[in-house]
Amino acid sequence: MVTVLDLVNNRPKARHPEKAHRPDQEVLRKPDWIRVKAPTSKGYAETREIVKSHKLVTVCEEAGCPNIGECWDKKHATFMIMGEICTRACAFCNVATGIPTKLDANEPDSVAKAVKQMGLQHVVITSVDRDDLKDGGAEHFAEVIRAIRAATPQTTIEILTPDFLRKDGALEIVVAAKPDVFNHNLETVPSNYLTVRPGARYFHSIRLLQRVKELDPSIFTKSGIMVGLGEERHEVLQLMDDLRTANVDFMTIGQYLQPTKKHHPVKRFVTPEEFESYATVGKTKGFLLVASSPLTRSSHHAGDDFAKLRAAREAKLGLVAAE
Ligand code: SF4
Repeated sequence: MVTVLDLVNNRPKARHPEKAHRPDQEVLRKPDWIRVKAPTSKGYAETREIVKSHKLVTVCEEAGCPNIGECWDKKHATFMIMGEICTRACAFCNVATGIPTKLDANEPDSVAKAVKQMGLQHVVITSVDRDDLKDGGAEHFAEVIRAIRAATPQTTIEILTPDFLRKDGALEIVVAAKPDVFNHNLETVPSNYLTVRPGARYFHSIRLLQRVKELDPSIFTKSGIMVGLGEERHEVLQLMDDLRTANVDFMTIGQYLQPTKKHHPVKRFVTPEEFESYATVGKTKGFLLVASSPLTRSSHHAGDDFAKLRAAREAKLGLVAAE
């Protein structure tokens, strides 16, 4: 596991100290199908105000997500809990690396209040990696879920978690809190792990997803990858099979975009037609749902997709019952 600690005090903290020594990577020009408008709408400004007033962190901002204008206009934001500093240093990620801050005991309540104020039917909660905590932050995740349930019981809850690697019992704590959707992203194909996601283990992530279903089959499971990181098509198809072996319901596939020159380069821009083809293949492999497009992100359209997931499960159960 890679845990990077920035121990030099009294100077401005670099956002990515572990990447500072790396050579600049060539930045490819984005194709037309990737371009997005700058966020300016009234809905965007209102969401921003609610996020700031509750002192919340969002992955929408931290990851520099290209969909922020569209999502925030519709009052859909993904809250990032347990601070804005991550203990890992993945080569694709724009979240800052370093020593994380102490957990905020008021955070579950603040998130729940914001969810209520925004009137969310479906909320997505994610976090930084907290390898420094004994349970990897599992109990804090559970507290956030419970606080949202208490404040606004009709809201469905989706969590996007770290891998809780070497944190025995952590997964069980989160599953017992009964989120509606448990998402854990594989991020990329196994051959890229050493360079793209060095602190993680591919088969541990697969096993984690499988274990969620074993513990509670009623929870929808979901996982996503970025493409354009140098993967081969056959590797993506193999990864789909691995996810299906773990009984994962929903897969997302989106184009990787390079946050800075120090991050992993975009190897190529995958065409919209190739994304469609991945969606077609994924559906034939048995996922209840596959979202695959250049701007697909784990939490993009998550509320609408949750409704589709429920409908797809009901249709499948109906079919099984009718046989
Ligand atoms: S896709 Fe997800 S991370 Fe991006 S702006 Fe929308 S909610 Fe935020």
